[in-house]
Amino acid sequence: MDLGIKGKRALVCAGSKGLGRGCAEALAAAGVDLVLNARGVEALEATAAVIRQAHAVQVVTIAADITTEAGRAAVLAVAGDVDILVTNAGGPPPGMWSDWDRDDFIRALDANMLTPIALMKALLPGMIAKGWGRVVNITSQSVKAPVAQLGLSNSARAGLTGYVAGTSRQVAPHGVVINNLLPGIHDTDRAVSLDTGVTQAEGITMEEARRRRMASIPARRYGSIEEFGATCAFLCSQQAGFIVGQNILLDGGATNVTM
Ligand code: NAP
Repeated sequence: MDLGIKGKRALVCAGSKGLGRGCAEALAAAGVDLVLNARGVEALEATAAVIRQAHAVQVVTIAADITTEAGRAAVLAVAGDVDILVTNAGGPPPGMWSDWDRDDFIRALDANMLTPIALMKALLPGMIAKGWGRVVNITSQSVKAPVAQLGLSNSARAGLTGYVAGTSRQVAPHGVVINNLLPGIHDTDRAVSLDTGVTQAEGITMEEARRRRMASIPARRYGSIEEFGATCAFLCSQQAGFIVGQNILLDGGATNVTM
C-alpha cells in the first residue's frame, strides 16, 4: 500500500534501537526523510547508515537525551519544521508500589509524560500552520491494564494519555492527528532487561522467563519491531487521517479486555 507520505519529514525520538528504530525504518521505507535521535552516538550512526543505504532517504542524526530540556532543545533545533513526530524514550525501572519516592516519580513523569508533551507543544504549531501533521506516541499496554511491577510507567503514561485525549481533538480540525501506540512485550533490549528482572526475582533461567511470558500471551510469542514500525507508519499515513486520539494495543492479545 502506498502510504502517501513520500517526501515528508519525521522526527523519531529514541530511535537507534528497538521500537523507535522499527518506526524509523518503516517510515523510511515509505519514503519519509528522518531526523533520528538517541543518546549513544555509535548505535545512532550505525542505524542511520543502515536506513540511508536501504531506503535512499535523508537521515539527520542528533545524539541527545530527549528527557532533558537541553537535549530537547538540541533535537528541536536540528529538526526544525517536521510533518511527523514519533515520541519515545526509555521506560522507567520496575519495582513495587512501596519502592518509589517523589524523585522517582518526577523522573518518570519527565521522561514518559512531560517530554512527549513538550515535543508536541513545540511541533504542533508548525503542523497546524501547514494543515497536515501526524504524531505517534509510544506508550505501553500498562495504559489499558496496569503492570504491577511498572507502577512508574502506569502512572506517567496514564497522564500522557489524558493529555493526548484532549489535545488530539483540538488539533484534528487542522488536519493534525495524534494517536498512541501501546506495546505489549516486544523483542528488544527493554524486554531483555524486564526478563532479567524476572530471572532474579524468581530464580529461573532466561529461557524459562521467556517461556512463561509467551505462555501468557494468546499469540504465544513476542512482537517484532517490524510489526510495530509498520503500524506506526500506517498511523502516519494519509489513510489514517480519520483515526484521532486512539490508543492502539500491539500486544498479541495479552491484555484481556473487550475494548
Ligand atoms: P530499547 O530497545 O531499550 O530501545 C530504547 C531506544 O531509546 C534506544 O535507541 C536508546 O538509545 C533510546 N533512548 C533511551 N533513552 C533515551 C533518552 N533519554 N533519550 C534519547 N534516546 C533514548 O527499548 P524499547 O523496547 O524499544 O522500548 C521503547 C519504549 O517502549 C520504552 O519506553 C519502553 O518502556 C516502552 N515499552 C516497551 C515494551 C517492550 O516490550 N519492548 C513494552 C511496553 C512498553 P540510547 O540508549 O543510546 O539513548
